[in-house]
Amino acid sequence: MSVWAILVAAGRGERLGLDRPKAFANLVDEPLLAEPLRRLDGSPWIDGIVLVAPPGWEEPAILLAEEEGCGKVHACVAGGETRSDSVRAGLAEVPADALVVLVHDAARPLVSDEVVARVLAPLSEGWDGVVPGLPIGDTLKRVGSDGGVEETVSRDRLWAVQTPQAFLADTLRRAEEGAVDATDCAGLVEAAGGRVKVVDGDPRLLKVTSEADLEMVAGWL
Ligand code: C5P
Repeated sequence: MSVWAILVAAGRGERLGLDRPKAFANLVDEPLLAEPLRRLDGSPWIDGIVLVAPPGWEEPAILLAEEEGCGKVHACVAGGETRSDSVRAGLAEVPADALVVLVHDAARPLVSDEVVARVLAPLSEGWDGVVPGLPIGDTLKRVGSDGGVEETVSRDRLWAVQTPQAFLADTLRRAEEGAVDATDCAGLVEAAGGRVKVVDGDPRLLKVTSEADLEMVAGWL
């Protein structure tokens, strides 16, 4: 079975307030992108990687992959306006004979082999897609523009979903052809009628959006 990873790193990361994209923010003396790249490249589950870089940053991304000795990186393409556009650009570079595609956010640097194995396993049991997640622990409220609570939403059976997300390659390609917009790839597969399973994620798969998140991830490292 050939498993290809698409590492999406084309976000601007405006909330970090840097002069460069989030993928090149500093994480313990190297660009953030280096960590997930090295981890995916070193994973025995993964055969090839397509890197999706911020537009104009393809060359530094390729150089970084070379410096890190990441021999599984077969292509590096510029991302698009939205995350979905970036995934689509990456998917176009995945070979037609790939059986499984794993999509991962570079903004979640601490991807582990354990979670990769957990999302791959159910694909051989008939699921179209598998995502890692954590059950919601906090109480959820819908809040109006004036800060007033409009309603308390039941958190019963609600999970916060992370990446890496694994899909049968054909299923993801078909789902990507649909016109729906979704905040993750699983949403596209669900909209196309696919069956998606949630497995245990990892709190350390935190998505870096702020300086405090960067410090937290650096601490875990
Ligand atoms: O923007 P958000 O935090 O949802 O980004 C999640 C992941 O998707 C990040 O790794 C980011 O680099 C990537 N992304 C992308 N292209 C975009 C927007 C986000 O590759 N246009």
